[in-house]
Amino acid sequence: MTRSASTPDPRPALRCLSLGAGIQSSAVLLLACEGVIPRFDVALFADTGWEPKAVYANLARLRAHAAKFGIPVRTVSAGNIRDDALDPAHRFVSMPLHVLNPDGTRGLARRQCTSEYKIGPLKKAARELLGYPHPRRVPRGLYVEQAIGISTDEFTHAKDSGVQYLRNVFPLIELGWDRARCVDYLAERGFAGTVKSACLGCPFHGNAGWRWIRDHDPDGWADAVAFDKAIRDGYPHATTQGQELRGQYFLHRSCQPLDEVDLDPPARAKRHLRLVTASTAAEEDDPDGCSPWSCRSGAAIAGHDTKERAG
Ligand code: SF4
Repeated sequence: MTRSASTPDPRPALRCLSLGAGIQSSAVLLLACEGVIPRFDVALFADTGWEPKAVYANLARLRAHAAKFGIPVRTVSAGNIRDDALDPAHRFVSMPLHVLNPDGTRGLARRQCTSEYKIGPLKKAARELLGYPHPRRVPRGLYVEQAIGISTDEFTHAKDSGVQYLRNVFPLIELGWDRARCVDYLAERGFAGTVKSACLGCPFHGNAGWRWIRDHDPDGWADAVAFDKAIRDGYPHATTQGQELRGQYFLHRSCQPLDEVDLDPPARAKRHLRLVTASTAAEEDDPDGCSPWSCRSGAAIAGHDTKERAG
């Protein structure tokens, strides 16, 4: 599978798919199975260990389906993001938690989790597939072509990998497919019910995402609520190391305890008691999961001004 390093070649040494098992990347995998786009040597699922049950169920059916077409689906992982975050002995990896500062301003913690739990394992796997595991230098010209499931409605998120041995391509953008087209295609192929891929307790969820977890995955909801309470004063590791974290931390962007937030959409809530403001619209917004290669910086979250006044 690996090409010689002594003969630089413009072609990729192999093709892989960054499979999140959400809507877009699932569609890309099926397209490769059908031969609409070039087939993959492997599809890699970067597992944070904290996806909704529905995502793992979808991953299992995708794995079985792709195997029929000779495409292996491999899981890569750097650990369990939830367990690690609550483990006082584990170096904490910052999630983009919403912070209520002592002076009443709000902020957003740094986002290191995507890099640590998704990008890192995928880059590591790419190096190993090429035969040059870290810290060996990958020869110039030797690379993995990595397909990313970004649709036309998200094209601004399409990014390079940042390393020369991994080159990103975007088959859905080349085909002109938007998210709705992917949903229809999945349904046509017997993959209806595919949901967004993101950690159960991802602070980027909007109300629609939280509502979905509450209403479809009660165990996952209880898990997220418990996590939200556990991180109120910051990560246990930071606390035990004497690194005082100022302020309070929350999973919900309103900086309220998750199980106390009114998650009903404005249409179902009592409209006469509640103004539908830009702020509530932003809370309803639910970004498309967490693609490792389409980093949403905290500053890019609609309606969340890091200097916004709380209350
Ligand atoms: S889904 Fe959210 S919590 Fe999970 S890795 Fe991505 S940004 Fe971090």
